[in-house]
Amino acid sequence: MQKILNYIDGSLIAPTSNQYLDNYNPAEGKIYSLIPDSDATDVSKAVDAAKAAFLEWSTMPVEKRSAILLKIADLIDRDFEKLALAESIDNGKPVSQAKSLDIPRAAANIRFYATGAMHAASEAHITGVEAVNYTLRTPIGVAGCISPWNLPLYLFTWKIAPALAAGCTVVAKPSEITPMTAFLLTQLCEEAGLPKGVLNVVHGLGPKVGQAIIEHPDIIAISFTGGTVTGKKIAATAAPMLKKLSLELGGKNPNIIFADCDFELTLSTTISSSFSNQGEICLCGSRIFVERSLFDQFTEEFVKRTKALAIGDPLEPSTRIGALVSEGHMKKVLSYIKLAKQEGGKILTGGKQVAVSGRCAGGYFVEPTVIVGLNHDCRTNQEEIFGPVVTIQPFDTEEEVLGYANSTTYGLSATIWTENLKRAHRISAGVKSGIIWVNCWLFRDLRTPFGGMKQSGIGREGGWDALKFFTETKNVCIKLS
Ligand code: NDP
Repeated sequence: MQKILNYIDGSLIAPTSNQYLDNYNPAEGKIYSLIPDSDATDVSKAVDAAKAAFLEWSTMPVEKRSAILLKIADLIDRDFEKLALAESIDNGKPVSQAKSLDIPRAAANIRFYATGAMHAASEAHITGVEAVNYTLRTPIGVAGCISPWNLPLYLFTWKIAPALAAGCTVVAKPSEITPMTAFLLTQLCEEAGLPKGVLNVVHGLGPKVGQAIIEHPDIIAISFTGGTVTGKKIAATAAPMLKKLSLELGGKNPNIIFADCDFELTLSTTISSSFSNQGEICLCGSRIFVERSLFDQFTEEFVKRTKALAIGDPLEPSTRIGALVSEGHMKKVLSYIKLAKQEGGKILTGGKQVAVSGRCAGGYFVEPTVIVGLNHDCRTNQEEIFGPVVTIQPFDTEEEVLGYANSTTYGLSATIWTENLKRAHRISAGVKSGIIWVNCWLFRDLRTPFGGMKQSGIGREGGWDALKFFTETKNVCIKLS
């Protein structure tokens, strides 16, 4: 069986313990590879390598650093099919989605930061005739990057690309549930000529490897994407150590639909924003609020199209809904569907585990599920389910729907559907979310800040913010007279 290896100091090596964890193919419910069960000793070795590599990498001319990163992006493009297949097998997502979203966006992340770093500028302030003040930004040191399982390579590169481009060296941990594409990426890093020790990837469990990264005194900045509970644990460790911290956490995103929307576009995009990646995208809209006069028509057509989504083997090009990432996660999603019924919800479609025949008979498939009849304040509508489950609720006024939208502890993203420009601005200003999409969803311009409000995170990443995050800032004041 294939063994994944750690990438430390430029070499692919076994964990010190020589122990491995099982890696499941969730579409089959079978073990298909082994993951290093690394520990603090491996993290320590990785930090030593990253520290040793820092001087060369951080002082390398930015054009040269950029060229190496661009080469990695080119190699992702070259191995596009192989990476998409690996991502689908590791995660359970349709291979069509890995091809259209995950892998192209992974390459795009690296290209954006590799080129962006070449255009970064510092400010200077002329203090009359007396002084010049300038801002000096230098790479912060060794960065710790921890990523989740839902968009494995996309979010792994989202963390490491700005750190590397800014001149930091990195110790990274992908989710132990989906380590394969990060492993394949390390092989591409070698081929691209990334100097040894610049990127180190330590595979293993969050509480062991992740915690060791957070606790290590020589890791100065932590960039984390994952659940809110984990984010709080990380903050509790890192904050007293005064580490720089960026946390991209969970969401419970509202999708607000007014009667004057472009009906067809709203409907087709809402199917995607509800069920893409089996609903396992932090930006999926799981609470749909529809203006009352459109509610019946929208709900009827939405349910019809949900029923038509092809569930099954992720490797079939026609599949729209693949497997959930693990048996544990499937049980969690099913438990929320049970809770929704207990809370008085009516299931209009879905609600059950799906038995797929053939190769995928043991897989973790759940029907896309649409629920009505619940209030905005019940647990189903307040807690992150992170699966193919949405609720639909009617509203009458803007004020009312803003109250619903803002009623959770989360504030990651929101989607607004209206052809009324003034209303679009009003609602965008009123919704407490870090990312608002009007008449679209998941449209990204990497120059914009990315991240959530409230319990959805701290420290906006994206655009120049992420490059700045990985630098330390000095003001140099030169007296002229
Ligand atoms: P988790 O919080 O469980 O895990 C995220 C990462 O943290 C994994 O690599 C995990 O390792 C690691 N980890 C777990 N415990 C610790 C610890 N004590 N110290 C350090 N690292 C630790 O999230 P999931 O992987 O379940 O991902 C789903 C969550 O991520 C959802 O809540 C989703 O909303 C959120 N998310 C947020 C995004 C955003 O941009 N805001 C984007 C995508 C997802 P291991 O896997 O081994 O446990």
